Amino acid sequence: MTGHAGAPRPCPLCGGQLSAGLATLPFVLGQAVAVIKQVPAEVCDACGEPFLHGRATDVVTSLLDKALASNAEVSVMTYPSGTPIAA
Ligand SMILES: [Zn+2]
Repeated sequence: MTGHAGAPRPCPLCGGQLSAGLATLPFVLGQAVAVIKQVPAEVCDACGEPFLHGRATDVVTSLLDKALASNAEVSVMTYPSGTPIAA
């Protein structure tokens, strides 16, 4: 993760173009599954792989902690809107 913003970066997987968008991300947490919707990410136009910003990663991590604490087998959460994604 780097803090650089602005210049378009190629997809590290396929070299395609990344553009800002929202992604729905599934996570497997041991026996549980969590899905987080509307996560701000740079999504590759070619392969569709989403790449999270550092701030978004922090928010996602805290959401996953909540999901684990709830002991739910399946958690579906929406990324909190209004959370800044860039410093
Ligand atoms: Zn790609």
